[in-house]
Amino acid sequence: MKKVAFYTLGCKLNYSETSTISRMFEQKGYKKVDFTDFPDIFIINTCSVTENADKKCHKIVREARGISPDAYVAIIGCYAQLKPKEISEIPGVDAVLGAAEKFRLVELLDGFVRPPHATIYASDIAQADTFNTSYSMHDRTRTFLKVQDGCDYSCTFCTIPLARGNSRSDSIENILKTAREIAATDVREVVLTGVNTGDFGLQNGIRVERFIDLAHALDQVEGIDRFRISSIEPNLLTDEIISFVAGSQRFVPHFHIPLQSGSNKILRLMRRRYQRELYVERVARIRELMPHACIGVDVIVGFPGETQEDFLETYRFLNDLDISYLHVFTYSERENTPAAEMPNPVPGSQRADRSKMLHILSDKKRRKFYEQNIGREATVLFEHDIENGMMHGFTENYVRVVAKYDPVLVNELRRVNLCRISDESLLMEVEDTVEETLSHH
Ligand code: SF4
Repeated sequence: MKKVAFYTLGCKLNYSETSTISRMFEQKGYKKVDFTDFPDIFIINTCSVTENADKKCHKIVREARGISPDAYVAIIGCYAQLKPKEISEIPGVDAVLGAAEKFRLVELLDGFVRPPHATIYASDIAQADTFNTSYSMHDRTRTFLKVQDGCDYSCTFCTIPLARGNSRSDSIENILKTAREIAATDVREVVLTGVNTGDFGLQNGIRVERFIDLAHALDQVEGIDRFRISSIEPNLLTDEIISFVAGSQRFVPHFHIPLQSGSNKILRLMRRRYQRELYVERVARIRELMPHACIGVDVIVGFPGETQEDFLETYRFLNDLDISYLHVFTYSERENTPAAEMPNPVPGSQRADRSKMLHILSDKKRRKFYEQNIGREATVLFEHDIENGMMHGFTENYVRVVAKYDPVLVNELRRVNLCRISDESLLMEVEDTVEETLSHH
């Protein structure tokens, strides 16, 4: 039995796809092993957003070669789609597969006999027009279910449309089928994932379904306790979706809404499809219906043309906004994007300073959000990992909770009292659980 190992860089989508590809291997009789377990085949799933994607790719290939000098090494993922030739020239690489080919990997590389030179299987990104159902299964508590792929927007900093192709989606019918499959396992939480999840519903370029319809349909699936929406563009987060989440027992009050900048000037340069006023309005609407909802914000610092005043505008905007945490990204130039050609690039040291300021702001926001949750009752889904005799879990609204390890609690939902913020890190401690385990299945 041939042994195959996987290495994944990048986002949740990549993780869900690696997971699905690994199941394809298992179905064909391959054995999935750890990276260091002398595999016969290495599959490396790359990301184009990762800083130094190129260097990382070299390093992982080198490591792989060190572990199994004769193994077959295949590179897939966004970076493989964008730079197939460069990657094929990395010593030790046997195959490079693009976005349209990666799900046919087992078939295309049948037998995994090392060629004398790396083979490239990467067609033009326009060919990546089919949707491949994927969900991750590496953690038995939660799964990332891909419902949408690709993006038709053209944000000036982003390479994802080039790496993943046009916006396309699974059908609601098929997603329900997958959700029922997941419900039959131990998994209790499904995170709905996509490149532009709110744009759900395009099939072959035609809008046939809507995200809200998907949400309504999933809400009826028995055996899954929680659905989380991974991230949704503010212009696609409609009142209808917000009200639906507020009224749903299963969709949790956690929103992750990319903002990217609090300056309208920069938003325009980024070619985002909203202005800051819309964002304020979306946050207000969520707060009105779900005062304790968790709201996470993506923001980019150091975009070309971002003056100190523009940055401070973003800083003040976020400071005044009732949100729970930030994901801060430092802008870096990506080849073949309009932003990379824009005038007035921000010096690296300023990018770093701005990032630091927003990280501090994020900590402050998160602490405040946690403080607002002290004294509340919440439901925690406890996870498998144990650390120094303690276990962790998340509440519906994404407060990370720590409790003394109790094997009975693993992968269970418990009502708890959130009593105080732990000293060492930003975690909520709980008093005794208040109710019996909530029923499941
Ligand atoms: S919405 Fe913009 S940032 Fe997001 S994937 Fe599409 S182009 Fe990239």
